[in-house]
Amino acid sequence: MATAATFDVTDPATGDVVGAAADAGPEVASAAVAAAHRAFGGWADRTAQDRAEVIRRISAELLAALDHIADVIVSEQGKPRAQALFEVRYATQWLDWFAEEGRRSYGEVIPTHIPGKRLVVQQKPLGVAVAITPWNFPVAMIARKLAPAMAAGCTIVVKPAEQTPLSAVALFEAIDRAGVPAGVCNLVTSSDPEPLAAPLLEDPRVRKITFTGSTDVGKLLVRASATNLARVSLELGGQAPFIVFDDADLDAAVEGVLMSKFQVNGQSCLCANRIFVQEAVADDFTGRLSRAASKLRVGPGDEDGVDVGPLIDAAGFDKVSAHVMDAVDRGATVETGGGRVGSHPGGYFFKPTVLSGCTDEMLCAREETFGPVAPVLTFRTEAEVVDRANDTRYGLAAYVYTRDLGRAMRTSEKLEFGMVGVNDPMPASPTAPFGGFKESGLGREGGHDGLEAFLEKKLVSFVS
Ligand code: NAP
Repeated sequence: MATAATFDVTDPATGDVVGAAADAGPEVASAAVAAAHRAFGGWADRTAQDRAEVIRRISAELLAALDHIADVIVSEQGKPRAQALFEVRYATQWLDWFAEEGRRSYGEVIPTHIPGKRLVVQQKPLGVAVAITPWNFPVAMIARKLAPAMAAGCTIVVKPAEQTPLSAVALFEAIDRAGVPAGVCNLVTSSDPEPLAAPLLEDPRVRKITFTGSTDVGKLLVRASATNLARVSLELGGQAPFIVFDDADLDAAVEGVLMSKFQVNGQSCLCANRIFVQEAVADDFTGRLSRAASKLRVGPGDEDGVDVGPLIDAAGFDKVSAHVMDAVDRGATVETGGGRVGSHPGGYFFKPTVLSGCTDEMLCAREETFGPVAPVLTFRTEAEVVDRANDTRYGLAAYVYTRDLGRAMRTSEKLEFGMVGVNDPMPASPTAPFGGFKESGLGREGGHDGLEAFLEKKLVSFVS
């Protein structure tokens, strides 16, 4: 079912309207669930090999439209074009991985103590999945859910973030060109998620809810899922510690912070939020990081040579400003950055910022900043930094930079986070479990766990 109403989509670099998206209401959301439900039986009955071919065709269509989709991402998300190109390629890696992984959803035959009895365990797709996704990776976040759902034999309804519906539309155009059967993948764009919550989350035909976004909204979805006990996977917020020991390769650590903190302008769940540096190297490290951060070029994502684009919107900009002001009020020093930058008055450009003298009580050390602010905190001992790093309700990603193998093993084992990068600022991969401890989420995307999130086991007992 189509809808006549639309809402404007704006460019965060200029505030200009760059397009319009369908503004779906509850009836459209219900119709999408109905379409997914009708398509489910046929899709689930196909062979895994057949489904793999369809998924691979989506990947090929995304690559064929790489430039166009990257342009759309830049226009509404604001990230530099090179990062938008990377995102589309990253999305295809998820599609390609799950196209193959779907062919390995093995069951089991279990021996029993009763002669003539055989226990067979089959893997069955859950049914209709609803995916709700954020704006920071507007194509990749959808691909991460759509690929395993399709590979498992589920059908899916996707509700993207209101800031970035056009990227989702571009992805779904590729899905159409790939010849995906009607009803297998459905898109519902909207300017207001609340009226869609009941039809998407509380419909008994929906057997799986998969969400990436904030922890607060994740908790709302868990409550909604209780209506029909739909299975839930949640990828939520983070508060990543980035620990630099005094034996670390400081150049590599600075490079790591730049990549982790300033890619997508710090608007990533995995990004380093608290930079813990051992006292002996703190001044040296902070100086190097500040010099490197001050060289990053800020501007619209479609300009050549830009490293950091605008923040997504006014609320995002205000939150980042508030975190910096709070840190300064409590005694932090701005080493570089600290406020608005740029000649585009309509754009939410914040200068890459390094703060020294930060403490655990500051807002930037307690809550996700979701912006280009690197707060440096110092520490003395390994035990102290592990305790402080773990002192958060979040547990998504953590980073450790050291050349000491024993220290790397001890700290990575003690950190209460779902992913730890040791001398690695990018631990995420489609081939490995991605997800968080504590309030950073439930379940895992990626690897065989990512496929199992869309399957359930059925026991069939045969007596002969
Ligand atoms: P958000 O406000 O939670 O929104 C995420 C999605 O949920 C959007 O599609 C949003 O729709 C929808 N939504 C909001 N309220 C809803 C409701 N009451 N019922 C149903 N849907 C609702 O998060 P965000 O600000 O877009 O994204 C940033 C957050 O995502 C950060 O916390 C970040 O750490 C997290 N994140 C986590 C991961 C991970 O893998 N762990 C990856 C990326 C981002 P509207 O856009 O229409 O509001």
